[in-house]
Amino acid sequence: MQEENNFRGNSLSGRDKAHLWHPLTQHKLSPDLLAIVKAKGAILYDEGGKEYIDGIASWYTSMYGHCHPYIIDKITLQMQQLDHVIFSGFTHEPAVKLSEALIRILPGNQQKLFFSDNGSTATEVGIKMALQYHYNRGNDRKVMLAFEEGFHGDTFGAMSVSGLSVYNGAFEDHFIEVTRIPVPTGKNNEDVIKSLKDKIAGSNIAGFIYEPLVQGAAAMKMHDPAGLDEILKLCKENEILCIADEVMTGFGKTGKNFASEYIPTKPDIICLSKALTAGVLPMAVTSCTQEIYDAFYSDDISKGLFHGHTYTANPLACTAALSGIELLISEEIQQDVQRVMNLQATFLKKLKGHQKVKNLRQLGVILAFELDVHMERYGNMRDRLFKFFMERGVFLRPLGNTIYILPPFVITNDQLAKIHDSIEEALQEF
Ligand SMILES: *Cc1c(COP(=O)(O)O)cnc(C)c1O
Repeated sequence: MQEENNFRGNSLSGRDKAHLWHPLTQHKLSPDLLAIVKAKGAILYDEGGKEYIDGIASWYTSMYGHCHPYIIDKITLQMQQLDHVIFSGFTHEPAVKLSEALIRILPGNQQKLFFSDNGSTATEVGIKMALQYHYNRGNDRKVMLAFEEGFHGDTFGAMSVSGLSVYNGAFEDHFIEVTRIPVPTGKNNEDVIKSLKDKIAGSNIAGFIYEPLVQGAAAMKMHDPAGLDEILKLCKENEILCIADEVMTGFGKTGKNFASEYIPTKPDIICLSKALTAGVLPMAVTSCTQEIYDAFYSDDISKGLFHGHTYTANPLACTAALSGIELLISEEIQQDVQRVMNLQATFLKKLKGHQKVKNLRQLGVILAFELDVHMERYGNMRDRLFKFFMERGVFLRPLGNTIYILPPFVITNDQLAKIHDSIEEALQEF
């Protein structure tokens, strides 16, 4: 026992505890954190040498696999050429090339790109664009519209519009004003539209922020594209700017480059991060239409968007993003997307009708369902499931009793089969 403690004390997991404070963690209730020392493709290696299949692409970022040689080589070359330069007053090739590559794949109405550092700042910028767009045009519009269970990040504007703010009690008095509607399920579309019409009549809504088709943090909840299209149409008719938060859904995961491609009405603003930089470096982009840009374009300096982060458009992060997009549109990765989608669809068929499987759903490579068991019997279901899969060398991150897989596109057939097998084992065990 003594020895084991010493071993743990010298391990990274043990040393971690002295100074590190982890995200979304109540440290008093949380077990020791696993130290990862290496990653390759879809595999993570811990400090004891054990391997885990990364079934959620490290929070939906590493879609082309960890340490992809193409991306690493490009960043290495860029690093020797230009590591960083201020983006206020200067520009550089990686940013210019990335802008051209992104505009080529974004919905056709997107014209201008604004850089920031992460998903929260991407939505924060989107919200500020919407509010200042109306301010610059002399419109009295200060309220944001959002979905009830949306998640848009952890900075103040992003927290305000997030419906999942059960842990944000300390800050609620400082939130911007937000009004909410439920997601359209297909069955409730008429009610949602009616509720939206009431809200439009009763408040000055500046913008609508939404995760198109899949709400990641709400446990991969999926909604109805036709219903979302109706909402977007109604917003557009009422000069409410539509902000698609594609931080999670972007870059191929839904089977198309962007979830917004499934919906005829296009957003005015799109927020991108996570897989934007292929899981290698942190960066975000908020894109918008020419019309929005024009509302800030003026002889009056104060009409500009005075938002800026020190590492804006870091050349290395831009290079990671550019290489990621080159991979995404390559035939090889497009074939991988189809292959993983097909394997997930086959697994979905297998799970269909299972008595413990509820709300089974798939979009693109994302597959999710609720494990319908008496949760009380297992204490904290999430922790039990997490441990169950990790013991089998599979990294999944269940949310409550929702189990979902969002694998890297490059996951091999065998690796994905192992994830599927471990889920079937879980269905027997619990
Ligand atoms: C993860 C996420 C964010 C926040 O991104 P961070 O990089 O964690 O700040 C915002 N919106 C959505 C939809 C996300 O999935």
